[in-house]
Amino acid sequence: MRRRVIAGNWKMYKTLAETRAFFSAFLPLVSNAKHCDIAVAPPFTALSTAVEAAKGSSVAIAGQNVSWSKEGAFTGEVSAPMLAEVGCRYVIIGHSERRQVFRETDDNVAKKTLMALSSGLTPIVCLGETQEERDAGLAEEVLSRQFTGGPGALTAEEFSRILIAYEPVWAIGTGRTATPEIAAEAHSLLRRCAGENFSVHLASALRILYGGSVKPDNIQGLMAQEELDGALVGGASLDAKSFAAIVNFV
Ligand code: PEP
Repeated sequence: MRRRVIAGNWKMYKTLAETRAFFSAFLPLVSNAKHCDIAVAPPFTALSTAVEAAKGSSVAIAGQNVSWSKEGAFTGEVSAPMLAEVGCRYVIIGHSERRQVFRETDDNVAKKTLMALSSGLTPIVCLGETQEERDAGLAEEVLSRQFTGGPGALTAEEFSRILIAYEPVWAIGTGRTATPEIAAEAHSLLRRCAGENFSVHLASALRILYGGSVKPDNIQGLMAQEELDGALVGGASLDAKSFAAIVNFV
């Protein structure tokens, strides 16, 4: 049985004061949650405040992005050793907003994943098709290509240390959730890719999260699918009560 992971992605929201207020409200609400791993990804500026606020709890902190370089003249970038030093345990890589707005490629994703792993971070590698790709019947092809160019380029040992998030672009921030069946079908495809690239054993141990308009009122239906090993939650993770309701879905 794979242990579930519920991770929140705050995107470019929350000041330091709002970060402190979130954790004061959120931690008591999830203090009995033993059924899953919990992570929150604040913006870079709030990472150390979040690490401090979550100290002593079971909530891990995640970066939302990372450089593919360890250090150097890369203005505006933040490295994996920096994220590890501040106390992050996870990092989101290849989010669709990074791929679409900042033109990140599968190759960038592969390089960032390696850098995160070498600093002891657990990468949450995001994959997903756009509405146009799904409508054109290309969802499988896109997911296979993103898998091959990103996670598929790792060694088996490296692959055993990552999480994947299936995030259909048409469901992110739109209020349109993939049905549990559509999500499960995409997860099975990704697990099949993992089996073909690596081994059946690694494929069955791989944790694949679903992301795209996850809310307190749809989390149970999604988690009822055996293929879904957790959720990556954007908008609904900004509110302590609604994120806690998602974490406490059981
Ligand atoms: C996300 O940012 O990864 C996400 C899934 O956003 P939302 O839950 O708001 O769709």
